[in-house]
Parts: sequence; C-alpha cells; structure tokens
Amino acid sequence: MNFAFVSGNPALDLVGTVGSRRDGPVDLLTAPADLERWVAACEGLPDRVTADLAGFESALSLREATYRLALDRVLERPFDPGSLTIVNDTAAGPLPAVELGDAGLRISGDLRAVLSHLARSGITVLADPRARLKECGRSGCTRIYLDRSRGARRTWCGMDECGNRVKAAAYRARRRASASADALIPSL
Ligand SMILES: [Zn+2]
Repeated sequence: MNFAFVSGNPALDLVGTVGSRRDGPVDLLTAPADLERWVAACEGLPDRVTADLAGFESALSLREATYRLALDRVLERPFDPGSLTIVNDTAAGPLPAVELGDAGLRISGDLRAVLSHLARSGITVLADPRARLKECGRSGCTRIYLDRSRGARRTWCGMDECGNRVKAAAYRARRRASASADALIPSL
C-alpha cells in the first residue's frame, strides 16, 4: 500500500495512513523514517524533516486524535475532549516558514512545525460546518475525506484507491453470476 493524498486535506491524509481501521488496521507509519517519507511526499510541507522517536510519537498521537474528531464529525456527535486537547495543543506550536522565490514557494521547518501546521489544517476543516466529511464507501477502507464535489456525490476516497476496485469487484461478481446462470442451461 502506498501513501495516498486523496482526502482533500493534509490532516485527513495523515489520518489515512491507517487503513482498514475497523477490521485489522494497516498502519503505513511504523517507524520515524516512514513519517519522514510521508512528510516529504505531502504537498505544502517541508521537503525534508528529521523525526526522532518522540516526534514520531507526537505525530501518531495527533493522527489518532484527528481521526477521532473527524469520526465525531461524520457521526454527528460531540467532539471527544481528550482529542480536542491534543489537536489544539499541537496547533499552538511554531509554524513552518514560507519563502517566495523564482523557483516558487519554499517551505521549511522542523517536525514540530509540520505537526502544528497539520493540526491547524485539521482544525480548519473540522470547524467548518459546510465541510462535508465522509467515510469512504468501500467497506474496509475507512478513510475519511472531504467531499468538495458538486452536490457532494463522491462515494469513494479516490478512484484509483477504491472506486475502481469496487467497480472491478462488482464486474467480476456479475461475470461469475452470468457464468453460473449459463451453466444451468443444458447443452444441446
Ligand atoms: Zn477508500
């Protein structure tokens, strides 16, 4: 499984590094080096950060707190107070520096700054009453994403990640069904 940036928000993408949360979670961040790779791959974050074990643990705690709050939003229930404290405290930290140059935007900062930025961006989406947060329609995915489509008709976190897989599975099921129906017709 690769990192996917399909949630429409970097904090939700961080949350999405755990898949299949209900039946056998799959965690893509198992060591600080995984987190360093994720930060480098995520748009809008510094290209290179160093994660020690303490920083890695803070990132995982931010991730799980953000998941809990996003799920609270999806299920339309009050926010979990402990998770609010984690996200709000993380958001109060220093932010990455941005510089404009001919090559475009340069973003720099350490892991602490990255986590504050992620916490703030999570807060922005969780605080927006118009933000349509949904859980992916492929059972087993469990990714929460921001549906920005017209009429909010998106069903899956991403077409490559889930939509095409669901459609392919449905196609195979139809093929199997018609093949077994054919088998019932006696051959002449
Ligand atoms: Zn999905």
